[in-house]
Amino acid sequence: MRTHADWTRLAATITPRTRAWIDGAFTDAADGATFETVNPATGEVLAEVARGRGPEIDRAVAAARASFESGVWSQATPGERKRVLLAVATAIRGAADELALLDTLDGGKRIADTSAIDAPGSAAILQWYAEAIDKLYGEVAPTAGSDLAVVTREPVGVVGAIVPWNYPLETAIWKIAPALAAGNSVVLKPAEDTPLSALRLAELAAAAGLPDGVLNVVPGFGHEAGQALGLHEDVDVIAFTGSTAVGKKFLEYSSRSNGKAVWLECGGKSANIVFADAADLDAVADFAVAGIFACSGQVCSANSRLLVERSIAAELTEKVAARARALTVGDPLDPDAGMGPLVSAAQLERVRGYVDAARPVARLVAGGGAVAQNGGFFLEPTVFADVPTDATLWREEVFGPVLAITPFDDEAEAIRLANDSEYGLAASVFTDSIHRALRVSRALRVGTVSVNTVDALDVTTPFGGMKQSGFGRDLSLHAFDNYTALKTTWFAGR
Ligand code: NAD
Repeated sequence: MRTHADWTRLAATITPRTRAWIDGAFTDAADGATFETVNPATGEVLAEVARGRGPEIDRAVAAARASFESGVWSQATPGERKRVLLAVATAIRGAADELALLDTLDGGKRIADTSAIDAPGSAAILQWYAEAIDKLYGEVAPTAGSDLAVVTREPVGVVGAIVPWNYPLETAIWKIAPALAAGNSVVLKPAEDTPLSALRLAELAAAAGLPDGVLNVVPGFGHEAGQALGLHEDVDVIAFTGSTAVGKKFLEYSSRSNGKAVWLECGGKSANIVFADAADLDAVADFAVAGIFACSGQVCSANSRLLVERSIAAELTEKVAARARALTVGDPLDPDAGMGPLVSAAQLERVRGYVDAARPVARLVAGGGAVAQNGGFFLEPTVFADVPTDATLWREEVFGPVLAITPFDDEAEAIRLANDSEYGLAASVFTDSIHRALRVSRALRVGTVSVNTVDALDVTTPFGGMKQSGFGRDLSLHAFDNYTALKTTWFAGR
């Protein structure tokens, strides 16, 4: 088990890759432009990274298209793609400490999470898709006996993947793994706050045998590199994870360009509904705290709304507040830190704006203040009780460590309040009644319901939203639907 000192020492040995990865090589931006990426735990500049814009996206898409058309990957047998992707998964495992440190230094994620979840989880997901791809069969349609109609899945071509900063490596893998396994070529645009792990990933993949041009990574800003990718005439599919507002822009980019398919995984405002018959309120409080303060609350499915049946509301609120107050906020390189910083100064300011707006309308029961530490962007784990359901804090996605609690009187009201949101990504239900669990989970308009837990998630099950949380599905075999086109071939009989 590594200590804070061990991780700090290891962090000092990391040399970030800072140039775009296009057609199997690192390259500067054509005009030499760069941007700074900052360590949110210290506020210090971590690296100057190539600032990809239109010309770099053009080059990356051209490389992806050329590799796709050459057939070097798209026509490789599923077994061959599997062999290479398993080698990439092994390479990720071999570089797990480095990749974990890159996400911790670049995004402020706790090393306890990046080393135990993000890096090994990314390898496992890639391995799962590698192992799946040579087990996917096509269909034979029920035609007249003289004919034969076969339905096959084909790669769509060039996939543009745009990802946010909260799970930099893992969200990239959620897109890349099924896209590559299916035979596509990919241009990945990581978030400007966290470009480093994706650049190292591309280098590792090439060393493990992925052909040049099949995976390209262009770091840069959303309104530059992201927009250029969205508007590109030679991109076939966009797979986007990020905010709802930006997701909608990709729909617009598509309509203004080549009508490319767009898959959206967007924001959330997940409700956690606790009924008075929940078995163990201490366990529920532990889950509620984990559900909002993991990754400093910067999780799309964060359980940011806690709905509690009125008879237990005071007791559960106090248990949750006590746990929030007890969480240690600190250096994400410290494996014992309970919570790290927010990703950037701008995000800290944004979240503090929500906290300040909530103070006059709700009861602050934990936190609320910034934590002055080392120049980093830290905020106390914050809990508001008795939050009116028309308050901004109740309605908008905060994407920070701020929990809003409100009581309800009966099951129907709990369902109504939970569904009264423009988002529909996830929800949790705590109850000891299987009948209630079934009724409530069916009534919730969300992509994932976790019963007696929070944020249940696995590569084997699809993840995505309803309503304005998006409509694509990451993970599971269903993700292949995003990255394959169905082709029907008829053989006319005589
Ligand atoms: P964001 O929408 O600001 O950015 C996401 C990506 O889009 C980044 O790579 C960014 O550079 C790019 N982008 C930004 N503006 C753009 C533009 N005008 N044109 C093209 N690209 C642009 O989101 P964020 O702040 O990085 O991440 C937080 C958001 O992501 C939250 O809303 C969160 O809920 C969401 N998210 C959703 C999921 C999910 O699976 N549903 C997972 C993680 C995060």
